Amino acid sequence: MSCFFPVAESPQNHQSLFYANDLSQYSVLCDFDGTISEKDVTDTLLNHFGNEKCALLEQQWQEGIIGSRECMHQQIANIQASKAELDSVLAQIKIDPAFSEFISFAQSRNLNVHIVSDGLDYAIQSILKRYNLNFLPVFANRLLHNQQQDWALDFPYANDRCLKASGNCKCQHRRKLTGFQKIFYVGDGTSDFCVADKVDMVFAKDKLIDFCQQQRIAYYPIKNFGDVTAILPELLKAPTENSCLIPA
Ligand SMILES: [Mg+2]
Ligand SMILES: [Zn+2]
Repeated sequence: MSCFFPVAESPQNHQSLFYANDLSQYSVLCDFDGTISEKDVTDTLLNHFGNEKCALLEQQWQEGIIGSRECMHQQIANIQASKAELDSVLAQIKIDPAFSEFISFAQSRNLNVHIVSDGLDYAIQSILKRYNLNFLPVFANRLLHNQQQDWALDFPYANDRCLKASGNCKCQHRRKLTGFQKIFYVGDGTSDFCVADKVDMVFAKDKLIDFCQQQRIAYYPIKNFGDVTAILPELLKAPTENSCLIPA
């Protein structure tokens, strides 16, 4: 019987940031896959190392038969790869070229930025490390490895009450963020749906645009983090002005 161990470095000591109210009045929560990274990391890994069962599970998730937690739990268990093989694929994944500049802006303004992801902690950590951005607090599912070819996924932030049955419940992270005057969210897809109506403003790409329109959630459509860096100072300058886009 194999033993599984976390492959991400020991959890960063960022719990205090979560509750901090002395750094700034504002906080930005960012999705990772498809928002910070150009490609979905889990999908990329499954394409390389998954089997036919992974595609079947994906279909069941798309049809709403299973939640993302159940889907990823089983998909990751069906991956066969050494750590070196996994690392070689992660090394190809690029991030939005404007993200680093957004982080520089955030640091210069003491803006809190957290990454909340329904993806894999180790993957996010190793991709961010390539861009010298691995100091950012990351809340994601925990990838485990048995030091051979097998992988498993653990869900430290799952919430059985979340409607989306995600691995990582983002609305729960939102609820824990107290003491901020405003909370912004940047995302692109279904893992962002449960949190989108619980923040002050959404910066949306792709599927999240459609969702915000359908649900009449205030949002700005963005192409990349360059748009967030451009729009956010305006919002912070005049936070009470009704300058947001409300869908017609
Ligand atoms: Mg995403
Ligand atoms: Zn949730």
